[in-house]
Amino acid sequence: SQVAMYAAKKRTEDIVQYKQELMTSTPESLSLLSELRQAVVNHELRVYLQPKVSSQDNRVIAAEALVRWQHPEKGLVPPYQFVPFAEQTGFIRELTKWMIREIAAQWHGLQKGNDTFRVSVNLSTRDLMTTSFPEFLAQTLREYNIPASGLCLEITESAIMDDPSFAEQTLAKLSNMGFRLSIDDFGTGYSSLGYLKRLPVNELKVDQSFVFGMIENNSDRMIVQSTIDLAHNLGLDVVAEGVETEQMYQTLAALGCEEVQGYFIGKPMPVTDFKEWREEWNA
Ligand code: C2E
Ligand code: CA
Ligand code: CA
Ligand code: CA
Repeated sequence: SQVAMYAAKKRTEDIVQYKQELMTSTPESLSLLSELRQAVVNHELRVYLQPKVSSQDNRVIAAEALVRWQHPEKGLVPPYQFVPFAEQTGFIRELTKWMIREIAAQWHGLQKGNDTFRVSVNLSTRDLMTTSFPEFLAQTLREYNIPASGLCLEITESAIMDDPSFAEQTLAKLSNMGFRLSIDDFGTGYSSLGYLKRLPVNELKVDQSFVFGMIENNSDRMIVQSTIDLAHNLGLDVVAEGVETEQMYQTLAALGCEEVQGYFIGKPMPVTDFKEWREEWNA
């Protein structure tokens, strides 16, 4: 069929793109790439969870999964030291799949009470461009018997803007499958607001730079307030990240921001620590 032919062509394009990525690499980056591959094989990657709290009742209702690399010599390596590289080389596709499998394996152990506890995962532009990605997600969730609504997919504006029409198709697919879609770092990308009405997104994440500035800087406060109003007028929820103080939390709650995430509530932590931490927080 035409659909199958298109899928086959797209896969070939994926492979060609991957080969081109490898050929343009320098020797140093090739060694980091092989180190990253080894990191997966040697179980050196870790999923950390950062709590997201409802500003209505202060309860932990979700978490964002963030990758860490537990390096045998370098210790705990933060994502900014290897995620951008993984994105450049295309290795991010493996990393994203690893994260999703890992989250899927932990998902049932994170459920508590009647409401679905949602886990957010960060996607990169490469994931959106990989034709087989939605099917990978569907299959992994089936394998672990997880509803699509149990995952939230965080996507930056810039990841969408790399190829808006293709991203739009993928996002429509993912939305139809039941995944919750979130626009990460909202307000920092070079994008028009027009795409918001076309894309099937459920929430906006106010970028932490605006949250940090909000208390002292009137423009930042206005940006946060306008983002919240815009989101609500479009029927979207708002999550604020980078909430470091009680004052920020209270201000955001007063502005109607539904969910807050930041060091004031909790830092990203290993999954077992997260479960203990949540017991205490909700007690
Ligand atoms: P992000 O998706 O915007 O994630 C939020 C970042 O802000 C996290 O940094 C988190 O630890 C940090 N953060 C949260 N609350 C606060 C706060 O109150 N104050 C401050 N100063 N920082 C706060 P992290 O974990 O270092 O991740 C950095 C970025 O790396 C992420 O930004 C995301 O773009 C990328 N990243 C992390 N994990 C993954 C992943 O699994 N896949 C992909 N594609 N990207 C990832
Ligand atoms: Ca994120
Ligand atoms: Ca963010
Ligand atoms: Ca960011």
